[in-house]
Amino acid sequence: MFVQELVLRQRTEILNALCSSGSAEHLEQVLDILLSQGELTWEDYQNIQVSGRALHCNARKLLDLVYTKGEDTCGLFFAAFKRVLPDAKGVGTSSSGCSSTVEEKEEHHSTCTETLLTQRPSLVEKLQGCIDGALEDLVTSGHFTSADCCEVQLPIHTPCQQARRLLDHVRSKGESAAKVVLQFIQHKQEPVSPLNQEKLTPPKEVLKYQKKLSSSISAQSCFLSTYGGTSHMSLDDIYTDGQLELAHNCVDVHGPLGLEDIVGAVGTENKEADTVLVSGEAGGGKSTLLQRLHLLWARGAALQDFLLLFPFSCRRLNSEQRELSLQELLFQHCCWPDRQQEEIFQFILDHPHLILFTFDGLDELKQSFSDEHRLCCPTQRAPVHILLFNLIQGSLMKGVRKVVTSRPEAVGPLFKKHLCKEVLLKGFSPSGIDCFVRKHHSDAHVAAKVLESLRTNTALLGLCHSPVLCWIVSQCHKELLGCGEGSLQTITDVYLMILQHFFQHKSSLKNITGLCWLQQHLQTVLHLGKLAFDGIGATCYIFSGTDLETCGVTEKDICMGFLMQSKDISTHAKGYEFLHLTMQCFFAALYIVLSDNTDRSTIPKLFETQKMKEAGQSSRCFIACLPSTDQQQRPSGEETTAAEMPNWQITATFVSGLLSQRHRNLWLHCCPSAVMEKRVRQVVKCLSKGMQKHFKSIPQSVEGEKKSMHAMPGFVWLIKCIYEMQEDRVAKDAMSKLEVDHLKLTYCNIGPVECTALAYVLQHLRNPVGLQLDNNSVGDVGVEQLLPCMHICNSLYLRNNNITDEGIRKLLAKTIQCENFKKIALFNNNLTDACTQHFSRLLTIKQNFVSLRLGNNNLTEKGAKQLAEGLKCNHSLQYLGLWGNKIGDVGAEALATALENSKTLVWLSLVDNGVGSAGACALSNIIKNCTSLEELWLTENHITRSGVERLIQAMQHNTHVKSVWLRNNDLSLEEVEEMKQRESRLTF
Ligand code: ADP
Repeated sequence: MFVQELVLRQRTEILNALCSSGSAEHLEQVLDILLSQGELTWEDYQNIQVSGRALHCNARKLLDLVYTKGEDTCGLFFAAFKRVLPDAKGVGTSSSGCSSTVEEKEEHHSTCTETLLTQRPSLVEKLQGCIDGALEDLVTSGHFTSADCCEVQLPIHTPCQQARRLLDHVRSKGESAAKVVLQFIQHKQEPVSPLNQEKLTPPKEVLKYQKKLSSSISAQSCFLSTYGGTSHMSLDDIYTDGQLELAHNCVDVHGPLGLEDIVGAVGTENKEADTVLVSGEAGGGKSTLLQRLHLLWARGAALQDFLLLFPFSCRRLNSEQRELSLQELLFQHCCWPDRQQEEIFQFILDHPHLILFTFDGLDELKQSFSDEHRLCCPTQRAPVHILLFNLIQGSLMKGVRKVVTSRPEAVGPLFKKHLCKEVLLKGFSPSGIDCFVRKHHSDAHVAAKVLESLRTNTALLGLCHSPVLCWIVSQCHKELLGCGEGSLQTITDVYLMILQHFFQHKSSLKNITGLCWLQQHLQTVLHLGKLAFDGIGATCYIFSGTDLETCGVTEKDICMGFLMQSKDISTHAKGYEFLHLTMQCFFAALYIVLSDNTDRSTIPKLFETQKMKEAGQSSRCFIACLPSTDQQQRPSGEETTAAEMPNWQITATFVSGLLSQRHRNLWLHCCPSAVMEKRVRQVVKCLSKGMQKHFKSIPQSVEGEKKSMHAMPGFVWLIKCIYEMQEDRVAKDAMSKLEVDHLKLTYCNIGPVECTALAYVLQHLRNPVGLQLDNNSVGDVGVEQLLPCMHICNSLYLRNNNITDEGIRKLLAKTIQCENFKKIALFNNNLTDACTQHFSRLLTIKQNFVSLRLGNNNLTEKGAKQLAEGLKCNHSLQYLGLWGNKIGDVGAEALATALENSKTLVWLSLVDNGVGSAGACALSNIIKNCTSLEELWLTENHITRSGVERLIQAMQHNTHVKSVWLRNNDLSLEEVEEMKQRESRLTF
């Protein structure tokens, strides 16, 4: 089909892709490119880009015009479109046409005005961060008036739009104005911090304020709150780096991110937005990470591009009942300027790029994110959540950098639309755990013992990837070392350990009563439990004296150390909060299990929270089981927020764990056993029902295809609850009804803890499955956790999971003995030649192994030679994928020798491996001799004419080969044409 026709046919899709976000940015980027290519004249541009007209109308105008301009312009339009929206589906995908490419024009132009046009896309990019400076130069040189500046800087424009308006204005001012702008950009390209960039010396009052702000932040952030009640531990002494990753794959970013990368430009996906999300599970270290950033900034050790940093806690913002202006929010919640408040605030408004806001725990805010209430005026008062949402969106104080932390479940697409990037905080790495434990214990001997005990209990080691659990385990080292090997398996076990630890250390009571420790402290547990339970239902994490009183919490209960004093500097009233949110959930679970005041429907409703969320309904169900006073306190019409669901899920996980047979002795004298039995039955029923629901959602398999289940959110949570119960019969029962051939759990946030639970449950499956865990954080510890279910796996997909040779060593030592195990995919991990000896052994021993995919790792010719040893002895392998390694000619030759007589190989990929013609010649022997081969992939190598000649010769003797892929090798266009004519199965 001709591209011109494509513009007509795909009109709806194109318009949708350009306009559906509601922002004009995509359309304007396409226009920039077409202008720079000379495909649109200046007049065309002005006819299309009519300000005030609806975005759709402008886009339609463009399509009309492009169409009338003919085939070439349409081709370039598609090329520009693809560049701006590379992922847009269904646009320009026809096999013919669309072959035009957009290239930046050479920088030789007769005039500066022309350069402004031909370089427009890159100039927009360069200008967007420094409009002020460019305008200043234009005003000083007499080209711009202040009215021109105002027009450019209209607050409704995004920084990119401001840059375009500036360029448009400059064009109308003539050649010398264009020269000023180009000189400004050239000068700016030397890297300087924003502070120097504008040769800015902030006014004295602002500097004084900065000093006050930083010393207050420094004082607030130098100690970790979890250590407050026990030992004072400075953040410097204990802070251990967590693992930071971009949520979206980014080709330019390799290796882990550093702290400052969170705020920096690395991995930016949406240049229009200023908000970064750091997401991670509860206890994953989000607050601590922000605390570290704050401290480093306050000391002048990081983030020095920002003059002022304003830290907010959403938990504390919840208690702000008043409507505030932005100025009041900043000054009252962070730091009060002693003088000249107005001037300082004006400075903040005028220099947004020098300001950093952090908002910790968006998931704890009572209100879910919404963009309904727009607020653009910085002096207008509004409820704090409205201020916060408008800051995040950039309708208020555009240009200020914001870092927001949240649990992943609590943020939806509406919020993500406003993000410039998302960074995942994935807890401690194995070496991070080591480092943390050593920092925690000044006595190296104790640290070594703790680490040794973790090494012997890998389920517990898996749990320690979560910093909060690592802290508990390390804190309770005496109990840890005192209890039997392997007795700590679940998260509930760990929280019970700290419960006992605190009671035994804080209590002055000598246990002369002969009661078990829990019985002795039952009243404290129930008081704190009620406080926690009611708090979760009301999204309340900070408790007043009255709240404590209502729940019967006494001074003695407080002294046990589970509560800490809240450091709310805005309201000076005394408040308390649990040491950590997960601790609050644990106490809520204890209350549900032990109290005789909870409703019979509490447990079923607790497990239904998931259902409510998945159905997309707003749930008021749980509020119904709150005491009536709390129901009344909740503003009418306000529903359970998405942010509350994760709390109930954590609580439900603890309830499952607490009701495990293993802990029943503990409850023996605390609650009538008939009541306990009933609660256990309730939980078991809920878990079984929950699983059934997931299984029912599996579509019937199409004939000839495998039956596959893609895990829905909540599946992994149910699996974890079953694991917490540690009762084989429950796991067996759940799995007996699962009948699938393939279980897909990609992008499900699966780390070592989830692997432990999965293996525990999946080992009860009746028939073998393919287990697809691509794009998670399994790591070596997770791989080890999966071993118990390997006998029931026929294929394992672990693409992009941070696995090293050590993980592979352990995995293959197990799977080599598993009859069912036939396929493995390990694309994009950290594998080196050191792992190939294990694969070689696997290939030698397992004569039913079918598929080995090791793409995008670090294998060289040495690894390929080692693999070849195994391949020589193997008579079953059909698929071998080594895309994106570095095996070179020597590696290709070794593989070719090993595979040339294979009777099973169907598919071989050596794409992007530095293979030249020598390698291709060797590979031609496979084509010559191997009768099973159908596809050979050699794209992105260095093969020249002589190599391809040999491949063609070999293909003449082989009718089975369907295609040999040779795109992007060292061949001229003429050679490609000629070869194509000679052998149609070659694909270039
Ligand atoms: P989140 O905000 O994700 O729920 P926190 O930052 O509150 O998690 O972490 C919980 C606890 O785990 C902290 O109080 C601290 O004891 C420990 N912790 C978290 N991150 C770190 C870290 N980077 N270094 C040392 N300890 C940490």
